[in-house]
Order: sequence, then structure tokens, then C-alpha cells
Amino acid sequence: MATTRWLYLDMNAFFASAEQHLQPELRGRPVAVVPTMTDRTCCIAVSYEARQYGIRTGTNVGLAKQLCPALRLVEGRHEQYVQLHHQIVAAIETVLPIERAWSIDEFACRLSLHHREREAALEVAHRVKEAVATRVGPCLRCSVGLAPNRFLAKVAAGMRKPDGLTHLGLDDLPHILHPLDLGDLPGIGRQMRRRLERYGVQTVRQLCATPPETMRLIWRSKVGDQWAQWLRGEDVADRPTSRGSVGHSHVLPPELRTDDGARAVMIRLLHKAAARLRRLGYTAGRIDVGVSQTGDGPDWRGGVKLGRVQDTPTLLRAFETVWASRPRDMQPLKASITLHGLTAEQGVSMPLFADHQQAVRASRVMDAVNAELGPTALYFAGMHEIRNAAPLRIAFTNIPDVAAEGSRDPGPVAAPRGDLP
Ligand SMILES: [Mg+2]
Repeated sequence: MATTRWLYLDMNAFFASAEQHLQPELRGRPVAVVPTMTDRTCCIAVSYEARQYGIRTGTNVGLAKQLCPALRLVEGRHEQYVQLHHQIVAAIETVLPIERAWSIDEFACRLSLHHREREAALEVAHRVKEAVATRVGPCLRCSVGLAPNRFLAKVAAGMRKPDGLTHLGLDDLPHILHPLDLGDLPGIGRQMRRRLERYGVQTVRQLCATPPETMRLIWRSKVGDQWAQWLRGEDVADRPTSRGSVGHSHVLPPELRTDDGARAVMIRLLHKAAARLRRLGYTAGRIDVGVSQTGDGPDWRGGVKLGRVQDTPTLLRAFETVWASRPRDMQPLKASITLHGLTAEQGVSMPLFADHQQAVRASRVMDAVNAELGPTALYFAGMHEIRNAAPLRIAFTNIPDVAAEGSRDPGPVAAPRGDLP
């Protein structure tokens, strides 16, 4: 049965590995990345060589030096790590589109229909690991998890470090998932563990056997239901969180650094942003379009106010209106599309006009087909030309949303999670 729906990739000791990648003399040595050069701070990332001395993320630097006098300390360089993040995104996307970057070093990909058998999923996971190693660097190792849902794929990714690959099928849950420690599940810290104990839950096995009503009481919200579904292996969507915008930007490949090329890429970005908007359950109140000639902030930006819109045809028409006002003498290097003014769709009535209703339905059908068959199985006509203009698999960047998602989605400057062994 084809039940493997998600691939989750977590970089191992990311900042420390990044320094070993950037500074070859650090390879094979105990390295700790620190925020500033003082003994009173603590290590924010620790290489596997340094872990052998008992040094961990969070270890005080003074103590770390005592534990390992040969420890090499490096001051963190976040811009470099963000650059590497983008290289990793591009490498992964030569094999699979990324559904979402959960942090600077964690990525979730939804497997298309033909990758969902165990063997096919393992094969695609090997190719992703290979792409990161060969396109970015062999120092940057990663652990990959494959599972029926995004949550279990992250759990699986955490099971073997460094350089692991773990497949967690529905049939494996009793003998692989159940024996884990509660603390191995993302989101269960010390406080949550105490609360679980008050309800008599001390093991993952007991948690999996807890009825949804009790789960709701424990989590004091419907999040408990989501946990129950996750632990059963159901592929439920992540609950939308409050956020300000959905957007994508892309550095144009050399052959698309033209007026037409930029437009084609933006249409592709808009398709992606619109699908994401619908997946999160929002409508947008504004679209902004930007072109940069240097790769930094946009040199030209245009925008237009929308009603509460979430269908791709209406967004495409709005884009064309904005695009018509661009200066014609730009040499575009980077293009961006942002949808602002997001509103939860529950609060929005269906559009009054029949053709608009149809556009909404068509967009949803497209999303459903693409979720099964891959992100470019079905698309609107405006996107067709990019398929001729460029190789199909352009690595579209998926930049972590810095301000958007609260603690569940730290931005590019947050320390990588899950680095503790
Ligand atoms: Mg990590």
C-alpha cells in the first residue's frame, strides 16, 4: 500500500557543519559556533567531533573549553548560513519541490503519487541526500525521514543522526513509533511532559492509545485532535496559523533575465503562492510585484488592492494589471510576488458572481490534482510558456517566513532545532 506521503529533511549540526564547509581547516575537528567570543555565552551549534567530549547545543563556552581544550570556536555568521539555506533549497528542488521550509535547516516535501511506495520513496530520499552532498557540499550532512504525514516524517528524520534515513510506514508504528520516548516527539518539552503525566500518559505507546477527547483536554484545544490524527498516521493539513503574507521570490537563471522571462517566472511564483494561500485557508487583499536588478531589494514595485481573493485566474488578472505599469528598460535579476492582507476563508462568503465561483472551484480542483500528481501536472494557460522557456524543474526558493509564524517557524536567523542527539 502506498502510504509514504512525506519526506522531511533536517540538516545535522547545521551551523557547525556550515563552518566546516566554509573553512576546510575545521573539517574533522571539534567545532562550536558561538554568538559572541566570550566564555560566558553558550554554544549554539556543535560539530559531531565536539559532541564526543560531551559538548551540546546550550553548553556554556567556558565549560566547553574545559571539556575539550582543542575546541575551535567560531562566531556565527548568519548571512552565510542563509546563503547555504538557499543552496540547499535549490539542491533539494532539483529532485523534489519543497512544500515548506520549517526553519533555516528543516524542509518538508510532499511526495507525488509515484513516489509513495516504500522502495520509490527510499530511492527519491537517496537522490535528495545525494543532491545536497554533491551540489552544496559533503560536510553538510542531513537526516531524512519518510512517513505517512509531515509530523511522523519529522519524527523519523530525528531517529538517526547524523546522515540518517528512516522510513516509517503505517505498519511500523507499533514497533518503531511506540517504543520512543515522549521527548523524541517534536513539541513535547518538559512542561508538556508534566501535563501528560497528570493524565497518566508516560509513554508514546500510552499517548497513541489516548482517546481524542482526552487529547483535546490535554492540549486544551483542537490541537489535541490533530495530535491524535498525526499519531495514527493520517495525513492531516497543518493548522493554519495567523500570518501576514504569502510570498515567493526567485533569482532568475541567466536565460530568463529579460522582460518576458521575468514575467513567466512571476506567473510561476504566483501559481505557487496562490496554491499555498488556499492550502493555508486564506484569502488575499493585495498583491505586490517586485523586480530587482541587483538581487537586493526591489528596484521596481507595483501592487493592487484585491477583494478577498484566493483563485488563481483572478490573481493572474491582477498581476497582469500591475505588470503593465512596469518600466520597460529593466534588466531583471530577481522577481518576487507577495500576497498581503490575509484573511481566514471561514469569514469570507463565496463570491457572488457565477464566473468567479467557477474560478475558485477550478483552482481547488487544480490543487487536488497537483497534490496527487506533482506540482506542475495541471496549470493555467498563462504558465505554459515558462515550460518552453526554461528547464521544467527550476529551483524555486522557499524562504522561511521570518515574521509570519511565531515559534513554530523561526526565521533564517533562528538557531536550528533538533540538533541535540
Ligand atoms: Mg538540524
